[in-house]
Amino acid sequence: MTLPADITERLARLALPSQAVIDGAHVDALSGETFDNVSPRDGQLLNKVAACQKEDVALAVFAARTAFEDGRWRDQGPRAKKAVLFRLAELMERDADELALLESLDVGKPISDARNVDIPLAINTCRWYAEALDKVYGEVGASPVDRLSYAVHEPLGVIGAIVPWNFPLHMAMWKVAPALAMGNSVVLKPAEESPLTALKLGALALEAGLPAGVLNVVPGFGAVTGEALALSMDVDMIAFTGSGPVGRKLMEYSARSNLKRISLELGGKSPQIVFADCPDLEAAAQAAAWGVFYNQGEVCTAASRLLVEASIKEAFVERVAEVAKGMKVGDPLDPSTQFGAMVSERQMNTALGYIAIAGSQGARRVLGGGQVLKETGGFYVEPTIFDRLQPSHALAREEVFGPVLGVMSFTTEDEAIALANDTVYGLAAGLWTSDVNRALRGARRLKAGLVWVNGWDACDITMPFGGFKQSGFGRDRSLHALHKYADLKSVSVTLR
Ligand code: NAD
Repeated sequence: MTLPADITERLARLALPSQAVIDGAHVDALSGETFDNVSPRDGQLLNKVAACQKEDVALAVFAARTAFEDGRWRDQGPRAKKAVLFRLAELMERDADELALLESLDVGKPISDARNVDIPLAINTCRWYAEALDKVYGEVGASPVDRLSYAVHEPLGVIGAIVPWNFPLHMAMWKVAPALAMGNSVVLKPAEESPLTALKLGALALEAGLPAGVLNVVPGFGAVTGEALALSMDVDMIAFTGSGPVGRKLMEYSARSNLKRISLELGGKSPQIVFADCPDLEAAAQAAAWGVFYNQGEVCTAASRLLVEASIKEAFVERVAEVAKGMKVGDPLDPSTQFGAMVSERQMNTALGYIAIAGSQGARRVLGGGQVLKETGGFYVEPTIFDRLQPSHALAREEVFGPVLGVMSFTTEDEAIALANDTVYGLAAGLWTSDVNRALRGARRLKAGLVWVNGWDACDITMPFGGFKQSGFGRDRSLHALHKYADLKSVSVTLR
């Protein structure tokens, strides 16, 4: 794989973080254990990373608790907190090229996406919550004349953030930034597939002046490190993004330990509906293709079900396939690559498994269907489209988290909405139509936390993000996320 000279030079100078960040120090796991961090780009070992065990998590939680109780961060005024978070955003900007390289190497996403999307969005999230933190107001109740009653938002305490590998730094910031903005301490557990930018974030936070112990980062395996964090009696909340089965475990861990709060963002099987009166079929075709193939399909809001009105279906699907065929699949570190490697061999095999099942269940393959670039040693699956999907097919029901699109057709609006809602998930849904009545009706009838009309993924940090049904509960982004990391305290003062 030949890369541009500037990338090769940066690669040669790149330091790969490997130690946990606990109580302001960069440390190995107490046991000395490490795990292999492999790059999906070529299947080669990148580095060995501290594999935090129960005792390391206990130290991190203790550091976070101590920092919270002595008020070294919680009790700083809004202006001081803002300054630290703004400084953190500045440092991330300073090191944006490095962060992008770490992210791309670690998870196989195109470096152009990492540099132009992931890292800027993570920085923006940090700034947005820095700006928002002094705009959280309490309430004054309707008190009798001899009493003053008011409610205030108080930080919860220690937040365990357990995050996935598809947008590692960005998802981490969705949780870390509002949690810190509200004055909490955080223990961040990155996915075992993607520890690098989280570890770098821990270092940058210290450099920005965040006091020791306020943000700790504990890399390691979910069943060990994540479980220890979620079972801790001294963690007040787990903020999670990941799979449904782990989400269920987290609720169980909460019940078995201290009834800690849980927020879950668990992905989906999101439908995009295209009616024949779509105002811009070319834009819809682009959205249909990029909506599912962006980030190799490893997106919780991936538009993995395409529902097209029967009268335009053949031509529309052909155009979607053309757009997908034009995507440049290749080395994630090549700036011209648009579609990189899947995060791991396991995730690649999951996608290939769904492709095999779709074929055997009778869906018609329109595009792709296989592993590519095998000679690299990396984990690449080409954009794949199946038509004539039936609601009972696995591809219509289960989240693949890979580059596989299933197409269905419909003839009436009621049928389209029923097909769209025929899923246990409810994260995102979209519809394309020129009829404003149909658009507004559809937006109301679609059971999803995010609905996009005549666009896909057309919203930002200002809007709440999260799911209905088995896509989870609790919201990232917007001011709602700040309230998630706080409790309401009602105070009544009787005047004597
Ligand atoms: P996962 O749910 O296993 O992992 C997500 C995070 O949870 C990681 O940090 C992991 O270490 C941690 N974790 C795993 N087991 C845990 C446990 N017992 N206790 C506490 N923490 C634990 O997801 P995955 O295995 O990386 O991916 C599997 C599937 O999850 C994907 O195919 C996809 O369907 C889904 N997924 C969804 C999202 C999303 O954005 N909603 C992101 C990643 C994966």
